[in-house]
Amino acid sequence: MAKYNGSVCRLCRREGIKLFLKANRCETAKCAIERRAYPPGQHGQRRSKFSEYGVQLREKQKVRRIYGVLEKQFRKYFEIADRKKGVTGHNLLQLLERRFDNVIYRLGFANSRSAARQLVRHNHFTVNGKKVNIPSYIIRQGDVVSPAKNKIEKSPWKRTEETLKNKTLPQWLAYDEDKKQGLVQSLPTREDVNIPIEEQLIVELYSR
Ligand code: SF4
Repeated sequence: MAKYNGSVCRLCRREGIKLFLKANRCETAKCAIERRAYPPGQHGQRRSKFSEYGVQLREKQKVRRIYGVLEKQFRKYFEIADRKKGVTGHNLLQLLERRFDNVIYRLGFANSRSAARQLVRHNHFTVNGKKVNIPSYIIRQGDVVSPAKNKIEKSPWKRTEETLKNKTLPQWLAYDEDKKQGLVQSLPTREDVNIPIEEQLIVELYSR
């Protein structure tokens, strides 16, 4: 599976905002955005003015990077969102939120989406009792997400203060501490996506 292997802090600096791709480090003074709040590269400190296309492109790249999705797959999500009833931008965000790695992150099993992705790839979780190791698996309403039984003892997935830091469980998810399982109560809505995103810009970009 293709994956971005470069410096993730560069991505934040390129987009000019914290994308929270490095878990705990993002909250400290070591964060690259705190230290060098300008785009990376030789000409990063030059003042740059974006065209309309540039603004749309940057918004799309920002969202793609937040969810760790490559261009080809992101465009596929857009095509699916466009075919569905309702507002295309909202449909797109809903699909991204429903990715299995995002659900694991939102439930507090990991402190970044990339860490969640790795846990999923290594068979640490099940959906409705069946092992699922595909980070892009789309979760449905009513699905039950729980740690794989054989991984419970030695698994690094444990929900800790660290993984739950600054995180509130979105309304569409519930967690049962006794059973150690998450429930998808409903599908996420636009209001559940608490990241500053202007999805309309992405729709405009792909509609060119
Ligand atoms: Fe982005 Fe986190 Fe790196 Fe800061 S520490 S630049 S928020 S990935």
